[in-house]
Amino acid sequence: MFSSHSELETALLLCNKCKLCKDKNHGPTSFNGTSDSPLAIVGEGPGGVEDEYGVPLVGPSGQLLDKALASVGITRDKIYTSNTIKCRPLGNRTPTIEEGQFCANHWLDEELRFVQPKVIIALGSVALKYLYGPEKRITKDRGQWFTTKYDIPAIATYHPAYLLRLTGKELVKAKWEVYYDLKAAVEKCQELAPGYDFKSSVPPDLLKLYASRRIDRLGKSIRK
Ligand code: SF4
Repeated sequence: MFSSHSELETALLLCNKCKLCKDKNHGPTSFNGTSDSPLAIVGEGPGGVEDEYGVPLVGPSGQLLDKALASVGITRDKIYTSNTIKCRPLGNRTPTIEEGQFCANHWLDEELRFVQPKVIIALGSVALKYLYGPEKRITKDRGQWFTTKYDIPAIATYHPAYLLRLTGKELVKAKWEVYYDLKAAVEKCQELAPGYDFKSSVPPDLLKLYASRRIDRLGKSIRK
């Protein structure tokens, strides 16, 4: 369909294929990181900060993700990060399975066709249900390997937004589970893509990197 990953991004940022384009957001968000990385993270959908910046996982959830990734030796510029669904639903509600499927069929599938990662991390329930099956549950199925429809191995873990809602022992337990899931993913990647360097000496400042996109998006009227 598209001849390059950047051509895909240009088309994605103009998408109005479903009713979410009229949900009072700033338009579709795309992806960030390295498109030839062996590791791809697929999250759920954009929150408020991501809607402003036009890229996934740069707000509070993204900052927590960065810390978790640092604990297993990964910086965000060395991996590919995207979302199942690209437009922020009104009121930041969780997208439905149907909305996720519709958007991901159009965009995520095409992205991953270009990226061809060796391993995918499904971050949270929406990504798990799209990549594994609608009956899957993040609390039960996280930490288990499965094969996606792209024939790429994947493992699911909790979305950082979920961790941000936890406290006390529940939070400690969930943090360790995420750590072991991410560790398993990076170990599998090292096995399938030996020698790949997952860590930059200076982690990227994603908010700075996408500041001009934010100014551009905020300068346009909200879609409704
Ligand atoms: S949610 Fe996806 S399919 Fe719907 S308008 Fe946004 S980018 Fe297009």
